[in-house]
Amino acid sequence: MPELPEVETVRAGLERHVVGRAIESVQVLHPRAVRRDLTGPDGFAAALKGRRPQSADRRGKYLWLAVGDGEALLAHLGMSGQMLLVPPDTPLSPHVRVRFTFADSGPDLRFTDQRTFGHLMLVPFAHGDVADGAVPGAAGRLLPSPIAHIAPDPLEAAFDPADFAARLRRRRTGIKRALLDQSLISGIGNIYADEALWRARLHWARPTETLRRGEVSRLLEAVSEVLTSALAAGGTSFDSLYVNVNGESGYFSRSLEAYGRFGLPCGRCGTPIRRDSFMNRSSFSCPRCQPRPRSAHW
Ligand SMILES: [Zn+2]
Repeated sequence: MPELPEVETVRAGLERHVVGRAIESVQVLHPRAVRRDLTGPDGFAAALKGRRPQSADRRGKYLWLAVGDGEALLAHLGMSGQMLLVPPDTPLSPHVRVRFTFADSGPDLRFTDQRTFGHLMLVPFAHGDVADGAVPGAAGRLLPSPIAHIAPDPLEAAFDPADFAARLRRRRTGIKRALLDQSLISGIGNIYADEALWRARLHWARPTETLRRGEVSRLLEAVSEVLTSALAAGGTSFDSLYVNVNGESGYFSRSLEAYGRFGLPCGRCGTPIRRDSFMNRSSFSCPRCQPRPRSAHW
């Protein structure tokens, strides 16, 4: 599943290859891809014709293009979504859900999604907590209305570590649940939560109200390191014309220390990594580096 680093890689690709180009036509090849757009496939396609994306932005795992008239083309890649840039005469692959062609006759943008959990929608920007005169994508941060409630992600300038620490301690939940809560901090999925907790030497069920200030700083530092190194690994595929995400960046396969390593030795102390069940999934951690807390929110 694409996580924040992969989504940021796609955003950078859209910025480079799509921003500034006039959309000539939009074909919705599978209605599920625009299921949350209130105007339906035909309305979605008609409204985007002739628009010229002005900026490509991201919060957490949501991506959007500002397309004028106070509106954004908002995308979530779901489990398997990809944004592909291909020459217009390339045959349509079976999993293309939405095809955008451009007036400059340059490469098409094709939203491809095998499992169809991803989606696109045309939405207004939210008003309210945004300074007058802010422009989409600038520091003032206009957000598309469906995601206006989502907290900043740790790679954004808007992310405030002190505010995060205070809200985290008030949550009274397990630390991993808190990391996955998009209203507290966005963009962290199961993989990067396990990796950050391993680096910070914190057990996933540790109650947030017992975290000391230094532990919260250590955790935030670990989160940033994990995301930044994943971004560096995932960003290398970007010199090509293809804007491509497959959830398996170089980081995913090479640098994982905890996630998916059940029974393999911890890279720090050699103790076999354990696996616990967690919210219908798994949590991977080192029994020695990340001891179970005396009290815990399982
Ligand atoms: Zn260890």
